Amino acid sequence: KDDGVPGRVRVAVRLRPRNAEEMMADADFADCVELQPELKRLKLRKNNWDLDTYEFDDVLTEYASQKRVYEVVAKPVVESVLDGYNGTVMAYGQTGTGKTFTLGQLGEEDTSERGIMVRSMEDILADISPQTDSISVSYLQLYMETLQDLLDPANDNIPIVEDPRTGDVSVPGATIVEIKNQQSFLELLRCGEAHRIAANTKLNTESSRSHAILMVQVKRSVLGREDDVAIENGDPTHLTKPFKPLVRKSKLVVVDLAGSERIQKSGSEGHMLEEAKCINLSLSALGKCINSLAENSSHVPFRDSKLTRLLKDSFGGSARTSLIVTIGPSPRHRGETTSTILFGQRAM
Ligand code: ADP
Ligand code: MG
Repeated sequence: KDDGVPGRVRVAVRLRPRNAEEMMADADFADCVELQPELKRLKLRKNNWDLDTYEFDDVLTEYASQKRVYEVVAKPVVESVLDGYNGTVMAYGQTGTGKTFTLGQLGEEDTSERGIMVRSMEDILADISPQTDSISVSYLQLYMETLQDLLDPANDNIPIVEDPRTGDVSVPGATIVEIKNQQSFLELLRCGEAHRIAANTKLNTESSRSHAILMVQVKRSVLGREDDVAIENGDPTHLTKPFKPLVRKSKLVVVDLAGSERIQKSGSEGHMLEEAKCINLSLSALGKCINSLAENSSHVPFRDSKLTRLLKDSFGGSARTSLIVTIGPSPRHRGETTSTILFGQRAM
């Protein structure tokens, strides 16, 4: 396995501890999985006797701290963003398994609980030079194939534009906030979360039915030659050109995906069914893109959904991509847990 090499998606699985309800209701039953973190293995219970074994890049038990999860899943991506490459961190799993806890937890009462978004910003702030570099953030929600601004609710149909020359993806019109310190970032996350709840109440849906997307653009001033590619072309005149300050841009995208649970066909109709179709469309498009990367296929079908169009420039290629799949311990959700594990497995 080409560990950590750009182009391939790194996949970790994280098990949520039993909650109070599960401790009561499932007291007589074993968890539906057994983890062997040192072997990076997960065993999924099929019945009382049989277990299926799966391997991941990392296996995070219910005892794994938020700090450790950040270090394993996100830190390499953040470091590569600071070096000028784009990167993506995503969480996939059934509602209630810990996607938002893993990514979005603010940890205001207990800083040890801070999630990946807050820890990433901390590392970015610590590395840049405030005089010459800048960090700007947008926070979006993708619901029913419509991109909404979580920092300005009036802005509810944002286009996704790809620069045909550079391949850069942008969201013109989305609010961009320059971040100078952790306080202003926490403020932004709180504001986004409040708008997310309000927007979803208005639309009469749940936040678990939409994707939340945080985009962090880093601009750094570096010394270089504008035609540095000339080195590769063996052009000797290159060396006589002076170094000058250039702006190097890179982007970190953090995606809290919609809940992956299958909406029971019988129970969903009308609006619910349309919602389910949109979620299935974007998650299956994402799955297909991840598979194409895993198979080194020359065609990655980014165009199939807005989610994948949005991620196109920070996914595969020179970008570093990390997927964390979250699962719960309850034997009652073995079916959903199995499908989450299989989604993660197909990415490898
Ligand atoms: P999701 O976003 O996948 O729907 P949440 O992140 O909201 O799930 O988690 C559901 C509940 O479980 C929350 O109350 C959250 O605080 C708790 N939780 C999730 N993961 C953990 C964990 N690793 N340790 C402790 N509590 C957790
Ligand atoms: Mg959530």
